Amino acid sequence: MADMAEIKEPSFRESVNLMFDRAVGLMDIPKGLKEKIRVCNATYTVRFGVRLRGEIHTFTGYRSVHSEHMEPVKGGIRYASAVNQDEVEALSALMTFKCALVETPFGGSKGGLCINPRDYEEHELELITRRFTYELVKRDLIHPSQNVPAPDMGTGEREMAWIADQYARMNTTDINARACVTGKPTHAGGIAGRVEATGRGVQYALREFFRHPDDVAKAHLRGKLKDKRIIIQGLGNVGYHAAKFLTAEDGAKITGIVEWDGALTDPDGLDVEAVRQWITENGGVKGYGDGEFVENGPSVLEAECDILIPAALEGVINLGNADRIKAPLIIEAANGPLTSGADEILRKKGTVIIPDLYANAGGVTVSYFEWVKNLSHIRFGRMQRRQEEARHQLVVDELERLDRYLGDAWSMTPQFKEKYLRGADELELVRSGLDDTMRTAYQSMREVWHARDDVPDLRMAAYIVAINRVAASYRAKGL
Ligand code: GLU
Repeated sequence: MADMAEIKEPSFRESVNLMFDRAVGLMDIPKGLKEKIRVCNATYTVRFGVRLRGEIHTFTGYRSVHSEHMEPVKGGIRYASAVNQDEVEALSALMTFKCALVETPFGGSKGGLCINPRDYEEHELELITRRFTYELVKRDLIHPSQNVPAPDMGTGEREMAWIADQYARMNTTDINARACVTGKPTHAGGIAGRVEATGRGVQYALREFFRHPDDVAKAHLRGKLKDKRIIIQGLGNVGYHAAKFLTAEDGAKITGIVEWDGALTDPDGLDVEAVRQWITENGGVKGYGDGEFVENGPSVLEAECDILIPAALEGVINLGNADRIKAPLIIEAANGPLTSGADEILRKKGTVIIPDLYANAGGVTVSYFEWVKNLSHIRFGRMQRRQEEARHQLVVDELERLDRYLGDAWSMTPQFKEKYLRGADELELVRSGLDDTMRTAYQSMREVWHARDDVPDLRMAAYIVAINRVAASYRAKGL
C-alpha cells in the first residue's frame, strides 16, 4: 500500500499546482490570467565555489520569484541538503498566496541552498552565506525594494545578520540597506517578536478558530483550547513556540511530540521546555526521561488527539498515512505538510484543515513590520509610549480621587493600575499587529467558506481570497 502510494504521489510543486487549479476552477477569472498567476516567473540557479579546509567546495543555491504583482517579493532562504528547484518554486508560490491572504504588500519568492548546516563550522557557514548573498545581491535578488529574504528551515538571525552586512558592504550609500532582509537580530536592525512570530501566529490562528463555535463543531470539537490534546511534529522554532504558548497561555496539553529520531507521548501532557532543552543538548528526543518513547515517530501522527500540528517538513501526511490520521483538526504550521492526495482523503473524512498559507503566515507578517521599521528608521512605539502613559496617568489620578471619596465602597485593584499605566513597547505592538492580522485573515477565509456551498474547506477559501487579491493587482496593472 505504502509503495503504491509513493508511486502516485505528485511532487510538492505539483501538489501546490493541484490545489491552485482546484481553487481557480471555482473562480471567475480569465484563463490567461489564471495561467499568469499560476506560473513561477523566474528561478535563478547559482553554483559558486568557496575555499574551505584547503580546497574549493562548490555549492548550489536558488532564488525563485513566483509573482511580482507587488514588489518587493518576499520569502525565506532555506538551508537543507534536500533543497531543489521544484521545492523552492512550490514554496515561492505559497509565499505569493500567503502574503496576499494576510495583506502584506509583497509578491512571493523563496530561496534555498543545498547544504547540511551541521556539516560546517560557524566561520565556514559565514563564508558560504556571504558568498551566496554576493551572488544574489549582484542580480538584485536581494534588495530592499525588490527582493527581501528571511529565515526558513536551517537559517535564523545569525545568517540574516550576515546577509544584511554583506548587502551593506556592497551598497555603502543605501540608507535603507537594513531593509534588504528580515529576521535579523534586534541589535542589527531586527524587531522584537520576530523569532517567536510563526509559532505565535499558529496560537493566534487557533484562538481565532475557537472563537467560532460553528467552525469548532465542524471539527467535531467543543469548547475552547483549554485541555485540548495536541500532537506536534517538530519542536524547531515554529513548533516550539506554538507548543509553548498553547500550553502556558491557553491551557492546552501537548500529548505527543514527533521528532526525527522518534516520538514522545504522555496523555497528561509533556513539559515543552524540558523536552526542548533535552533536544538542544542531545540532538533528539531519545533518552528523555518523562513520557513514553516511541521508536517509530511518524506512527504518533496517527494517534488519538484533538489537534495535530505538523510543524516540520513538507509532505509528512501523504497517501501512505492520511487514511489513518485520527485528529479531527489539523493546523499546518509547516509549509506543505499535507500532499494534495492526503488533503483530499482527509477532507472526505471530514477533518478540518487550517491551511499553511494562513496558519504559518505569522512569520512573514512580523517580517513586514520589521521591513517597515527599517524603512522608517525608528522603533515602533518610540514616539507614543510615554505620551500614552501620561494620558493613562490622568485617568488613574481621577480614579484615585474617586477611590478616596468613596472610601470602602470601591477601590481600584493594584494590578489594574500597574497594567493600565504601562505604555505598549515594541513587542506588545508587534503581537497586537500580528493578532489583528491573524483574526482579519481568518475572517476573510471564513466568509468564503460559509457563504459558498461549492467551497467545502478552508484551504480553498484561503486560495480564493488570495488569488482574487493577486488578480486585482494584475488587473490594476492593466493585465
Ligand atoms: N520563511 C517564512 C515563511 O515561509 C518567513 C518568510 C518571510 O518572513 O519573508 O513564511
